[in-house]
Amino acid sequence: MSMFEFADETYSSAPDPDYGDKSMRIKLGRLLHKGLTFRHEYDMGSTTELTLKVVGERSGAKRASGIELLARNDAPVLTCTACKNAEAAYVCSDCQYDESGWLCESCAEEHECGEEMLLPVVNSPRVGVCDYSG
Ligand SMILES: [Zn+2]
Ligand SMILES: [Zn+2]
Repeated sequence: MSMFEFADETYSSAPDPDYGDKSMRIKLGRLLHKGLTFRHEYDMGSTTELTLKVVGERSGAKRASGIELLARNDAPVLTCTACKNAEAAYVCSDCQYDESGWLCESCAEEHECGEEMLLPVVNSPRVGVCDYSG
């Protein structure tokens, strides 16, 4: 289960009407605009919480896959959990749940889980996005 939380609205993959949750089956592009800050939570119970900010809108040709979100963590900047020395460029989809697996470019190459588990950090919100923009 995961959810996106905006200033006054919560979009959940398992909406609870008691809390006024809305379904994630909406187009994220309708909600996002430059400067917007929102939160993304997943793996409820041992929740990982990301604060995301829309730092810009991409202009130009649209990708066939739809929205390309240019986002980053607001604070703190994600640091590579392996070398703790560089900004994370990738997240391992296997290790992210125990809050490791944030990897800089060079550590990503050596990560034990393999390249196919790695997602670019800038695109990590798309993990949830794919569900409802498709
Ligand atoms: Zn590193
Ligand atoms: Zn891993």
